[in-house]
Amino acid sequence: MRYVSTRGKSPVLSFEETMLTGLAPDGGLYVPEAVPQLSQEVIAAMAAQSYEEVAFTVMRPFVGDTFTDDEFRGLIDRAYAGFGHAARAPLKELDRGQWLCELFHGPTLAFKDFAMQLIGQMFEHVLTKRGERVTIVGATSGDTGSAAIEAFKGLESVDVIILYPHGRVSEVQRRQMTTPVESNVHALAVHGTFDDCQRHLKDMFADHAFRDNVRLAAVNSINWARVMAQVVYYFTAATSLGAPERRVNFTVPTGNFGDIYAGEIARRMGLPIDRLVVATNQNDILHRALSEGDYRVGEVIPSVSPSMDIQVSSNFERLLFDAYDRDGAAIAQLMDELKAGGFSISQGVRERLAEGFGSDSVSEDETLARITACLRDGAELLCPHSAVGVEVALRQPRTTTPMVTLATAHPAKFPDAVEQATGLRPPLPKRMADLYDRSERVTEVANDLAAIQDLIREKRRA
Ligand SMILES: *Cc1c(COP(=O)(O)O)cnc(C)c1O
Repeated sequence: MRYVSTRGKSPVLSFEETMLTGLAPDGGLYVPEAVPQLSQEVIAAMAAQSYEEVAFTVMRPFVGDTFTDDEFRGLIDRAYAGFGHAARAPLKELDRGQWLCELFHGPTLAFKDFAMQLIGQMFEHVLTKRGERVTIVGATSGDTGSAAIEAFKGLESVDVIILYPHGRVSEVQRRQMTTPVESNVHALAVHGTFDDCQRHLKDMFADHAFRDNVRLAAVNSINWARVMAQVVYYFTAATSLGAPERRVNFTVPTGNFGDIYAGEIARRMGLPIDRLVVATNQNDILHRALSEGDYRVGEVIPSVSPSMDIQVSSNFERLLFDAYDRDGAAIAQLMDELKAGGFSISQGVRERLAEGFGSDSVSEDETLARITACLRDGAELLCPHSAVGVEVALRQPRTTTPMVTLATAHPAKFPDAVEQATGLRPPLPKRMADLYDRSERVTEVANDLAAIQDLIREKRRA
């Protein structure tokens, strides 16, 4: 399996190189040259298999010869061993025909664990084989950073340094980043905003001397390996509900379009998904793009579902690449227009996208009202991101096709919003109930690139 850039001007890479590289040198995102197909028989057999078995079948064609089959099975088993539910991604019935796929049983209580835990294992394996080490630096508004620290802590070949905006992440998110005791993971609290953190990260990658000196690497949401790992739960959910004989719809709370793009890959692999519905909060660029063809960047407005407070939705580029018949030059041109504020999606492309995708956006009041109603009707406590998803799912036309909403985080990760809606403060799962008692380790740093670079040089192991 080989990978090409969405902007058409980067070398074609293997899976291993794609995973280690992240962003393509031409600024594009790597996608597989061709999406592998699974037969209806192979898909039908999944209903009786464990999550790990399905994961192996779904991901094996993407990784090429990077791992032997036995190695890859071992990495998958280790990645999901720490999850707090035997099914890994259990389904729960909310109402007739309405299902919730719970993706929050991983170690940091959000769906990002599914990809990050596997990436941790795959990085360690590949780097050990190559005799190399890297320094992973990430910028986070909360969930990605905690998932990365949890996934890479204690690994030999990798140091992880996460920048987060001081005072602007939830207490649970902060503690998940600051309480691990392993000496290869570090949280830096930057006196600035999330956008400042992201800008510093970009500048560090552009500083070639620094990049080579610390062997900088990234595992942000554009890394193909993250999308790949997220394809799996679409298969486990759909086959539990009768696929491939029966068709299934999904609604996905969306920010960077990574999670829902994994659903699009599942569909192209042969999973019978009718509709993939994008659910956004008040930061609705994706809803506007899909419903009106207008991809135009606005101001980010902070919301009660902060992990979706995004204006530029990086993985959308992957969908556009296919919608524009894999024309890298056309995508490069659109992305240039985006730098100047935005672009319009052509009528033909919009109509094609409308066949497979729906979308809607949810206000703050509607999000909280859905949390309240779900608790009242079914004793199900939703996190605000999942509530955005359920609200949009319930607005879709009723059909006989089951609808699965992805529940992206545990309510205890966002207790303030949940308490505001219900008066209840959701407790942490037992296995991490001592999170509030563990001691924290964090370095505060000025909102200054040179100061941050100094700290990274100092903290990474030689
Ligand atoms: C990251 C995140 C999202 C958005 O996922 P994308 O892949 O960026 O669309 C939604 N909910 C939660 C809880 C998240 O952490």
